[in-house]
Amino acid sequence: MEASQQPYLSVVIPVFNEEENLLELHARLATTLDQAGYTWEVIYTDDGSRDRSWELLTRLHEQDPDRVRLVRFNRNFGQHMAVFAGFERVRGEVVLTLDADLQNPPEELPKLVAKLEEGYDVVSGWRQSRQDSVLRKLPSYVVNRITSRVVGVDMKDYGCMLRAYRREIVDAMNACQETSSFIPALANTFARDVVEIPVDHSERLAGTSKYGFMRLIRLNFDLMTGFSVLPIQLVSLLGSLVALVGLAF
Ligand code: UDP
Ligand code: MG
Repeated sequence: MEASQQPYLSVVIPVFNEEENLLELHARLATTLDQAGYTWEVIYTDDGSRDRSWELLTRLHEQDPDRVRLVRFNRNFGQHMAVFAGFERVRGEVVLTLDADLQNPPEELPKLVAKLEEGYDVVSGWRQSRQDSVLRKLPSYVVNRITSRVVGVDMKDYGCMLRAYRREIVDAMNACQETSSFIPALANTFARDVVEIPVDHSERLAGTSKYGFMRLIRLNFDLMTGFSVLPIQLVSLLGSLVALVGLAF
């Protein structure tokens, strides 16, 4: 694309086995952004799907090659890596993320953009009435409290991926990819003005959540070891104590 044709918005969407949701998602996304009068592109990352997701994405790309761009992973690397693959390719001034499963309504995107235009670096959705099971919400509550402490920015909902970023923040995140894969936490280490606004949240109508208990634990472990020296300090302290006890004996 010529520089003059660069889109204003880049939407990044990770996709892992979402064949039932993709067509409706794309239709609603395109309608919303067109009606709001934005120039936009969407980058879908297929995170090693085993269903018809890639086939459907290819079809969307063929129908609209300038605005629908695709990345395909050879196997499943996880949601945050999939978003990063999109981040590396964005061309817009404003970068948006959302889930592919329609739990984050695309109709909320213009609200995020309007908020960002008030002068914020990052606008994060906050799922005020989250439509997930207690077993899914409880670990998230713990993650939110820990993340707020570790990152030093208090947020009600670190797990919501319905978010908007200024391009500079995304560029900064791209430059330090290896630190951690937890995007909302990483963004907060670069952003000056962050704001949370309430967004709608729907039940997952098709397909199943890809986050089991073990996956959440792993994500949180990444988070704590990537953003804080506290775990290393605790282990060192424990080591010293054991050494002292040994000496005493
Ligand atoms: N996802 C992905 N790779 C994964 C797991 C999830 O790309 O390994 C995508 C998934 O397709 C969806 C988003 O990340 O677009 C959120 O996943 P999910 O809805 O399963 O998570 P939950 O809503 O339960 O937090
Ligand atoms: Mg979901």
